[in-house]
Amino acid sequence: MNKKTIKDLSKEELQGKRVLVRVDFNVPLNEKGEVTDNTRIVSSLPTIKYLLENGAKVILVSHLGRPKGKVKEELRMDPVARELEKLLGKKVHKVNQCIGEEVEKAVTELKEGEVLLLENVRFYPEEEAGDEEFARQLAKLADIYVNDAFGTAHRAHASTAVVAKFLPAYAGFLMEKELQVLGEKLNNPDRPFLAILGGAKVSSKIGVIRKLLEKVDILLIGGGMSYTFIKAMGYEVGTSLLEESMIEEARKIMDKAKELKVTFELPEDFVVAPEGKEGVPTQVVKWNQIPPDMGGFDIGPETVEKFGRFIAGAKTIFWNGPLGLFEVDAFAKGTIEIAKKVAASGAVTIVGGGDTIAAIKKAGVEDKITHISTGGGASLEFVEGKKLPGVEALLDK
Ligand code: ADP
Ligand code: MG
Repeated sequence: MNKKTIKDLSKEELQGKRVLVRVDFNVPLNEKGEVTDNTRIVSSLPTIKYLLENGAKVILVSHLGRPKGKVKEELRMDPVARELEKLLGKKVHKVNQCIGEEVEKAVTELKEGEVLLLENVRFYPEEEAGDEEFARQLAKLADIYVNDAFGTAHRAHASTAVVAKFLPAYAGFLMEKELQVLGEKLNNPDRPFLAILGGAKVSSKIGVIRKLLEKVDILLIGGGMSYTFIKAMGYEVGTSLLEESMIEEARKIMDKAKELKVTFELPEDFVVAPEGKEGVPTQVVKWNQIPPDMGGFDIGPETVEKFGRFIAGAKTIFWNGPLGLFEVDAFAKGTIEIAKKVAASGAVTIVGGGDTIAAIKKAGVEDKITHISTGGGASLEFVEGKKLPGVEALLDK
């Protein structure tokens, strides 16, 4: 990797220093305000522990939910502080602001090897605006800045990028791992390299599809986006998800796949229903025989088998986007079967996307995936070849 990481700092450089770490603690909470999935907190532990073990004073900052620049009581970081306390087995100090006198006092009182968690940084409109003065106030709290929040690295926010103008900036371990896996494994893949793309829309994935076409040997398309391709081939899709404005684009993608000799596969069959909800009658139809009054909500068994053959032969697999309306159990089967086949493939497997990760968890195979990228939007933008502001801002090696 061409960016400096915390491993590039010696023990002397960390001992007694105030280190501001941007983490991604954007965890789901239930109605009681309890953390229901601590994956993101767990993922940042290696960086936090390393800094503590080297005698740093660790100041953590994160966003939580979408408070949109206002204080929202239910989005305070206190439950996160308690969860982190449990995981670290030590006291986590918490303040109710991110900048200002009270915070500065708490930092002054912080001892070597202690942790302070700042308030939800998105309570400040200056955060998402990338405000320089706010970033300068944050920087004032510390001697060193570490970015370990890969999930927000595609945003040029005050705490993810702008703050690095005022402090020496390093990548944390999670950030390093994401960049390494996504960068190296996808750019120098063991072949055959297979990508599975699904999800609701072609339009939200178009950049990723184009970029992957240049890299992969096989591209499997499923989910809501597949109907736009089928329509582009001249067939009707009933009431299935369809993006009229993307039909021409879908045609171009299929032409490009031919030109690049990429094996491009669409579903063979679909589970169709009058509506995408539990308890409705369903039936399996061939891909080009969707009845006019029904929509496709999952891939069918023939597709699972066909996709499964490609998956079993692949050496590297990248997957983004569920292959059906997996949140509804009646339409989850295709996605879950594919998740199991990906997990059992023996290939290097990389999965990204918020909903795709939820599907992997629903299938219960998250432990059998080589790398689950913690960044939804960030991993897709990285795969697209876009520069991530939070990464660009770090010191070069
Ligand atoms: P990710 O978050 O993994 O990047 P997306 O947000 O692009 O994935 O897409 C996920 C959504 O697409 C899910 O909510 C899923 O229910 C929906 N979806 C997938 N296939 C279909 C379908 N055939 N009909 C309706 N919705 C679908
Ligand atoms: Mg999504």
